[in-house]
Amino acid sequence: MTIQSQAAVDTAVIGAGSIGLAVAYYLVTRHGVKDIVLIDPRDPMSLTSAQSGENYRNWWPHPVMTAYTNHSIDLLEEIAAATGDRIRMTRRGYALVTRSAEPTDLLAELQTGYGAAAARLVRVHGAGASSYAPPLSAAWDSAPDGVDVLRDPALIRATFPSFAPDVATVLHIRRAGSISGQQLGQFMLEAVRTAGGRLKRGKVVGIEGGQPFVLSLATAEGHETIRAERLVNAAGPFFKEVARLLGEDLPVHCVYQQKISFEDREGVVPRDMPFAIDLDGQEIAWSDEERSILAEDPDGRKLLAAMPGGIHCRPDGAEGGKWIKLGWAYNDRPTDPAGPEPIDGQFPDIVLRGASRLNPALLTYLGRLPRNTHHYGGYYAMTPENWPLVGPMRTAGAFMAGALSGFGTMAACATGAVCAAWAAGAAVPDYAHALSLARYDDQAMMAELASLTSKGVL
Ligand SMILES: Cc1cc2nc3c(=O)[nH]c(=O)nc-3n(C[C@H](O)[C@H](O)[C@H](O)COP(=O)(O)OP(=O)(O)OC[C@H]3O[C@@H](n4cnc5c(N)ncnc54)[C@H](O)[C@@H]3O)c2cc1C
Repeated sequence: MTIQSQAAVDTAVIGAGSIGLAVAYYLVTRHGVKDIVLIDPRDPMSLTSAQSGENYRNWWPHPVMTAYTNHSIDLLEEIAAATGDRIRMTRRGYALVTRSAEPTDLLAELQTGYGAAAARLVRVHGAGASSYAPPLSAAWDSAPDGVDVLRDPALIRATFPSFAPDVATVLHIRRAGSISGQQLGQFMLEAVRTAGGRLKRGKVVGIEGGQPFVLSLATAEGHETIRAERLVNAAGPFFKEVARLLGEDLPVHCVYQQKISFEDREGVVPRDMPFAIDLDGQEIAWSDEERSILAEDPDGRKLLAAMPGGIHCRPDGAEGGKWIKLGWAYNDRPTDPAGPEPIDGQFPDIVLRGASRLNPALLTYLGRLPRNTHHYGGYYAMTPENWPLVGPMRTAGAFMAGALSGFGTMAACATGAVCAAWAAGAAVPDYAHALSLARYDDQAMMAELASLTSKGVL
């Protein structure tokens, strides 16, 4: 085993997923910090960031999260415009669906989430003539802003022909769509490298001292140390573990979530359907025989109970393609990301049955999903309130950007820009204080978060 010691770098970023890359990108492009090392034992963008559904939206139950994702979408648009849309940004919106004709809670949530802008942004379309613009194009730069609330059954049927006839209301969030997170990460990595930053393959296993910190790395060759004036914890599912190396405890846990994608050979999902989310909870329509089998299985029994809403479906890839993606974040049991991956062989069947409630023609695939169906998953690292932690750690010179749950692709740019600004001692946007550890000292804010009915987990 060899032990090598290296000269001090300005900033060590621990983790080269979407978030570490974004912090490094904004450090080099906005604050002129070029002496950066990104440390990771894996390939860049290969852990959680490789599993992302790559969707984005500015729909949140609280104006702080709305401001944060709006900022991030502004930055994504900047990159799309500057690179000839290398990040493949689309914007057909999110279609949030319910069978309730009077979804009072949802409409109240829209008002809270969009805050003072809600009066301008929320448009309700009842029966009769309407100014609603259907999502005919995927172009992000010509899509409308705001939210269209569709309450006219005829308009819903005409716009979303694959939806079940019992859908009574669709909330069409317009500043929402998809990007290529992998292209975004690659673009940022190139910019960091061009500026002089570098990647170091290794796992940070110890951190001593402070300014300079001495990081111990386990590498393929043995052990190395890197000295760094500042460090950034962007370790994704291992965010809590890296904080522990500094003697800090963060209120973060990890929950495994899964998706499937497969070729929709029968063409049951229209290629121009937005990312569609069934907000209503449901009990899965098992047959009597299936019910009795599940009732005898301690793990299966929970599948007979009421399941939460939030099941989602969208066309995946090119407009002329056939693949679709289904997901359902119904798991809420924390697990240790260092343990075996808790992928559930029943998930494809469960998500297909659940999704067929909104898109009934999906039932054609029950028991006959294509052989090359891709079933995968990753960890949502999250705080109890499902807000991220971005800002200074308690240790001087240490910063963090983590707990990005199911929104780290869409929020990568704002997270990177804000964390870089904190680290560089520059001004941060107003909303940023509430995303730092400072929120835990604000009892009124924490009480408000505890009172929200939705945490925005999708
Ligand atoms: C199934 C699924 C679907 C999702 N869909 C969406 C979506 O549609 N839209 C959206 O916005 N977000 C989505 N997300 C969330 C998004 O993918 C994550 O929030 C985001 O990828 C987190 O990025 P990260 O950089 O924090 O973590 P990661 O990508 O996991 O990167 C962390 C890196 O840190 C490294 N690391 C850990 N410990 C150490 C150490 N000790 N030393 C050195 N390096 C270390 C790891 O090797 C890893 O490469 C989804 C997530 C999942 C799981």
